[in-house]
Amino acid sequence: MKKAIFFDRDGVLNVNKQHVNKPEQLMLYDGVKEALKKAFDVGYEVFVVTNQGGIELGHLTHEKLKEIHDCLEEQLIGYCKIREIVYCPDFKKPSKFRKPEPGMILYLIEKYNIDFKNSWMVGDMETDITAGISVGCKTAKVGKLDPRANINEMALESRLKNRKVDLEAIVEKIIEIG
Ligand SMILES: [Mg+2]
Repeated sequence: MKKAIFFDRDGVLNVNKQHVNKPEQLMLYDGVKEALKKAFDVGYEVFVVTNQGGIELGHLTHEKLKEIHDCLEEQLIGYCKIREIVYCPDFKKPSKFRKPEPGMILYLIEKYNIDFKNSWMVGDMETDITAGISVGCKTAKVGKLDPRANINEMALESRLKNRKVDLEAIVEKIIEIG
């Protein structure tokens, strides 16, 4: 069975000071490409699971989101092949896919026969950690500490202080823990 890392998108891979509604607004943090390459090279399946309630709210369309994700994948050429990007377009509408609900992760676990106990959810919101825990994955938290998470980025001694988010430090720790 394959192990996976499920990455949240906004605030983990890319800057989320403003909502990303078009490709040119997608700015990856320093070290993200290198972090994803490390995960990919050691054999993790790399997934992105992202709430995109802006679609229900009318801020962007499915087509525009696809352009954004094509742009993300283009930037990762030579570093990492993302197996699949899953998003939830709902915002107010009840949905078992919108995090903290675990639907997106469960869908991927089933589809790709993922060894979820040895897989990780990486996110910057409590809702990401809740979703990861509820499917039985290990979790890594970016930003504000979450005592439920197995890894807290802010507490990592190896993190580079000049980075807003040091995803490389997280992935290195994930590889170390296994
Ligand atoms: Mg986020």
